[in-house]
Amino acid sequence: MSHFKSKYAEELAKNAAYIGTPGKGILAADESTGTIGKRLSSINVENVEENRRALRELLFTAPGGLQYLSGVILFEETLYQKTASGKPFVEVLKEGGVLPGIKVDKGVIELPGTNGETETQGLDGLAQRCQKYYEAGARFAKWRAVLKIGPNEPSELSIHQNAYGLARYAVICQENGLVPIVEPEILVDGPHSIDVCAAVTERVLAACYKALNDNKVMLEGTLLKPNMVTPGSEAPKVAPEVIAEYTVRALQRTVPAAVPAIVFLSGGQSEEEATRNLNAMNQLKTKKPWSLSFSFGRALQQSTLKAWAGKKENLEKAQKVFLARAKANSEATLGTYKGDTTLAEGASESLHVSNYKY
Ligand code: 13P
Repeated sequence: MSHFKSKYAEELAKNAAYIGTPGKGILAADESTGTIGKRLSSINVENVEENRRALRELLFTAPGGLQYLSGVILFEETLYQKTASGKPFVEVLKEGGVLPGIKVDKGVIELPGTNGETETQGLDGLAQRCQKYYEAGARFAKWRAVLKIGPNEPSELSIHQNAYGLARYAVICQENGLVPIVEPEILVDGPHSIDVCAAVTERVLAACYKALNDNKVMLEGTLLKPNMVTPGSEAPKVAPEVIAEYTVRALQRTVPAAVPAIVFLSGGQSEEEATRNLNAMNQLKTKKPWSLSFSFGRALQQSTLKAWAGKKENLEKAQKVFLARAKANSEATLGTYKGDTTLAEGASESLHVSNYKY
């Protein structure tokens, strides 16, 4: 037996496959209290629990929105929150056919002796937290590892530490009933070419799948959340078809066919860019043994946040904006996005923040 047999094995495989259902994807709404504070301050809304709850209610109850989603990643606070009328968010999601997920990492710390590289914290007590979250209704989890491209980065040390951190997290999740999203994000920051990004992405993903195998993780019950292969933020842009070709090739070379779905992060791309790039990948005629979908945070929320601006009277308008973005991304998972979504304010603006914290 190459992987350990979790008592949840069948459920894990079923839930991971469900999340990868074509036409559906993940809304990453798991910003930590500090990060959501930055989003709220950009629309002059105070970072207090009620405002964080109101924003999440807007997203989860947008009429028709949940049909385009198979999962929503929550921060711990949100997992236990309710709508204004008293219905637990977990119930709202389940009724809409959406699996609740939970961010379980505790952010990054610097790796001593490196040029600002990091590893992710959160393994202590992780099994107990997973059990508690499973009881509260969560069925999948997220752990974000962060790597960067520089003259000598990513270092062997950071690739190794981050891959084994992800693998330890993944097996602990599986022992406790949660499908782990394996997220090794290579930051877009820098002047590097798309070829450099492709080479680094392949090296990092190959190391991650070695670590997952060493730790006896059952790949059928996992999801991969990678960056798309693109030029660095300070290099000239390339067309979605180029990004699609580079990204799918890097994945073909490194991600086993046992993985049911690959759900991309948006990593600072504009809403429209992220959707077009995903659509181009799903239009590519080549070998794709996994489904290719989204797990967007910034690229699913930016124009909605702007339309809302924290005002009750804007609620309906903001929910329509969210619906349009969710539908566009759903189409992109099928390769049928025509680029005809009316762009709301903010939909084509870059969401890049260097050295981004989640
Ligand atoms: P972005 O889509 O904003 O990059 O975030 C997704 C995410 O969950 C990062 O961990």
